[in-house]
Amino acid sequence: MINLENLCRHFEVGNQVVRALDEVNLIINQKEYVSIMGVSGSGKSTLLNILGLLDTPTSGDYLLSGINTSKMNDDEMAHIRSTKIGFVFQSFHLIPRLTAAENIEMPMVLSGLNPKERQEKVDNALARVNLTDRSDHRPEQLSGGQRQRVAIARSIVMEPDVLLADEPTGNLDSSSSKEIIKLIEELNQGGLTLVVVTHDKQLGRRSNRLIELLDGKIINDNQN
Ligand code: ADP
Ligand code: MG
Repeated sequence: MINLENLCRHFEVGNQVVRALDEVNLIINQKEYVSIMGVSGSGKSTLLNILGLLDTPTSGDYLLSGINTSKMNDDEMAHIRSTKIGFVFQSFHLIPRLTAAENIEMPMVLSGLNPKERQEKVDNALARVNLTDRSDHRPEQLSGGQRQRVAIARSIVMEPDVLLADEPTGNLDSSSSKEIIKLIEELNQGGLTLVVVTHDKQLGRRSNRLIELLDGKIINDNQN
C-alpha cells in the first residue's frame, strides 16, 4: 500500500543541504507492523511525516495504494490525510480547552457526517481505548497514558487504513507505555497497518519488521 521510490527530502539551511532522507526505497504492505529505529537526526520523523502527507519529498515518488501522491492537489491530500491515515505524536497534540470527546470529534467536523453519526463514532472510539468514563475530561485532567489514548482514539475515529506513530511512548512511564503499545498492537491485529517510530529496542523487537535509518538512508530492514 506504501511504496517509496528513490525518495529524497532535503532541507536547505543557510548554505548547507541536510539530506534528511536520501534515496529511500521502501514498500510497506497492508496490515504490516513495522518499527522504525535510528539515532536522533537519522530521518525518522521526516519519513513518517512524508508517509502521513504532512510533508512532501524533494524528489522521488511516494505511491499510496498505487496513486502517485505528487500528482495529488491539496484537497486530495487533505482528504486522504483525514480518511485513510491516522497520526499519533509523542506529545499527544490534543487541544487543551476541549474535552476528550470533543478532541476525538475534531477530525470529523468537516467530514459531512451528521451529529448523531459523529456521536456514535466518538462513543465507539472512546470504548476502544477504554476511556468511556473520561469523555468529559479535558487533557489537563487526564494522565499521560490517558491523553495518548485520547490521541489514538482521535487518530482512528475515521477508520483509517494506516496508523503512523512517532515515538508514541516517548513521554510516558513504563506502565503507560505498555498499555499504549498493547492498544496499538490490538489495532494492528484488527487489520490496521502500523508504522511506529521508536527509540525503545524492546518495542522495536515486538514488531514484525524492523527498519533502521542512518543519515537518511535505510541501513537495515529485517523481518523479526
Ligand atoms: P529523527 O526524527 O530521526 O530524529 P528528523 O527526521 O527529525 O530526525 O531529522 C532528520 C534531519 O533533518 C536532521 O538533521 C534534522 O536536523 C533535519 N531537519 C528536519 N526537519 C528540518 C527542517 N524543517 N529544516 C531543516 N532541517 C530539518
Ligand atoms: Mg523524530
